[in-house]
Amino acid sequence: MGAMLALVTSPFRAVVDAVLPPRCPGCGEIVDGDDRFCAACFAQLQAIGPPQCACCGMPLPHESDAAARCGACLAEPPPFVRARAPYAYAGPARQLVLALKHGRRLHLARMMARAMLRVAGNLPDDAVIVPVPSHRWRVWQRGFNQAVEIARQLARQSGRPLAVDALDRIKPTPTTKGLGRRARQKNVQGAFRVARPGEITNRTVVLVDDVMTTGATVSACAAKLLKAGARHVEVLTYARALREGQVGMTGL
Ligand SMILES: [Zn+2]
Ligand SMILES: [Zn+2]
Repeated sequence: MGAMLALVTSPFRAVVDAVLPPRCPGCGEIVDGDDRFCAACFAQLQAIGPPQCACCGMPLPHESDAAARCGACLAEPPPFVRARAPYAYAGPARQLVLALKHGRRLHLARMMARAMLRVAGNLPDDAVIVPVPSHRWRVWQRGFNQAVEIARQLARQSGRPLAVDALDRIKPTPTTKGLGRRARQKNVQGAFRVARPGEITNRTVVLVDDVMTTGATVSACAAKLLKAGARHVEVLTYARALREGQVGMTGL
C-alpha cells in the first residue's frame, strides 16, 4: 500500500511542485526561486565552521590550529576520519530536514547536497557515496529514505559514484530520541551490515545522512565499513545537533 501510494503520489507531487510557486522550506513564505530560503530564514541559519574539531567537526570554543581535536575525539577517537555538516540542527535547517522527511519534497535534497558539498570541499578521487540505510519497514511506510535522496544528489553534483545498497540495516532501531550517547551506541550495535563489500573495498566512503546527533549511528556504520575493507570513512550530513552551550555562527 505504501509503495502504491508512492507511485500514485510522486508524479502528482511533481505536477503540484511545478505549478505552485516555490516556498521557503523554513517558514513556507513564497520565494522567488526553487531551492532557497527566504531572507529571514537564511539569516537565522547557524553555520558550522572553524574553529572546529578536525575530526568530528564540533565547534571549538577558542581559535585553534586546523588539526585540533575536541575532548571527546581525543578521549575516544571515532572510526571516521572526518565529519562535516554545514548547519546546526536548529531553526530553518531543522525545518528543512523535517520537510524532506515528512513532506516528500525530494527536490529539497538538491539544496541540502549543495550546502554539504560546500563544507566538504572536493571529495577524494576514490570516494564512493553511501547513504545511512533506513530499515525497510520505515522506507515502506514513508515511501523513501531521505539519506538516499540526499546521497543521490551528492553523487550527481560531485560526479562520484553512489553505492546505494552497500550498507544494509538488519535491525530496526527503536527511536533514539532523548537517549544519551552510551545508550544510543548500544541501541545501534548490530544494526548494520555491509551488503556489498566489493563497492567499498579500498575506497574512501562518504557516509551520508540528513542529521548527525550523537554520532552513534554513523560510528556504527563506519566501523562496519572499515572492517569490510573501506580505506577511510568520511561523514557528511546536512545538519548537526550541537551540545548545550555550543553555538554556530548566525547569518553565514
Ligand atoms: Zn523562510
Ligand atoms: Zn571532535
